Amino acid sequence: MKYLSEYRDPQVARQILAEIHRLTTRPWVVMEVCGGQTHAIVRSGIDQLLPKEITLVHGPGCPVCVTPLETIDQAIAIAASPGVIFCSFGDMLRVPGSSRDLLTARSAGADVRIVYSPLEALQLARENPASQVVFLAIGFETTAPGNAMAIIQAEREGLENFSELVCQVLVPPALRALLASPANLVQGYLAAGHVCTITGLDEYWEIARSQRVPIVATGLEANDILEGLLMLIELLEAGRCEVLNQYSRSVRPGGNLPARAAVNKVFEVVDQKWRGIGELPGSGLKIRQEYQNFDAAQRFAVGKIKVAEPVECISGLILQGLKRPDACGAFGSRCTPEKPLGATMVSSEGACAAYYLYKPLN
Ligand code: SF4
Repeated sequence: MKYLSEYRDPQVARQILAEIHRLTTRPWVVMEVCGGQTHAIVRSGIDQLLPKEITLVHGPGCPVCVTPLETIDQAIAIAASPGVIFCSFGDMLRVPGSSRDLLTARSAGADVRIVYSPLEALQLARENPASQVVFLAIGFETTAPGNAMAIIQAEREGLENFSELVCQVLVPPALRALLASPANLVQGYLAAGHVCTITGLDEYWEIARSQRVPIVATGLEANDILEGLLMLIELLEAGRCEVLNQYSRSVRPGGNLPARAAVNKVFEVVDQKWRGIGELPGSGLKIRQEYQNFDAAQRFAVGKIKVAEPVECISGLILQGLKRPDACGAFGSRCTPEKPLGATMVSSEGACAAYYLYKPLN
């Protein structure tokens, strides 16, 4: 599956689906880890076309969704500080903190700007030497290299008015935590292919062997997901706990070595709180001591902000694959993309937003 036309070809999809139906002999619970995969599944109706024995549950792979409330409140506190230009990807602006979001802070006078990369924030720092430019550095292993490179470049140029508020999360520790939970029902994983492009597959092999679970690194197009599912069902039906690579057009077993080196140079692994889930050991990155001048949480002393999650929102259970969005009493009524209660509704990758878009309540 190497060429563009194949990724959504209905004929290819039908052939893979027929093979999945032929091979499936008993019930299986499968988690797609990535929010982009969730959207592709719900948008293309893959969950409706699978054998009834296969249950798909949605995983924690939406970076906006798992960014803790504290980080949003810290971002708002920094953005409201005098002389700050606060930079963020657009989808973070509407994510609710404990009382407001960054968009509201902007309407109250804070200089909050949408950027498309940390390098754009760096450019703002060069152009505005009298301002402190802060970039909200969130995401999984895919965003960490760019965020690390921005700090390396800022140090090279001697830019003293650039820093990052960091909430970087790591997928394999989250999978280990989900598998260790007594409530876990998941028997196989579609891992996020773009994350594996950076990390490679070694950690996934360790999980597959130690936790006795098959994993397939899978792309984000509809036929990628169907092919990943077919490979996973083959492993499950054969009782093989291995790692396969459906996304071989991008994933190399060792990952992207220069990107990994940049991340290791700037960041170190720490325990990290995930929104709705709680603190997971070794599941996050923080800026190393050598680069602490670029750590906005230290520069603006906002590290101590702590807040509680809204009680009504069950996004934590959704992110762990224990509930689906339509099991939430607020779904589609008190919680909509226009007035979201939780991050899984506001984020374009969130499972609640996917259900709202493609599976509205009747
Ligand atoms: S529908 Fe809204 S309140 Fe319910 S789980 Fe999703 S984000 Fe939370």
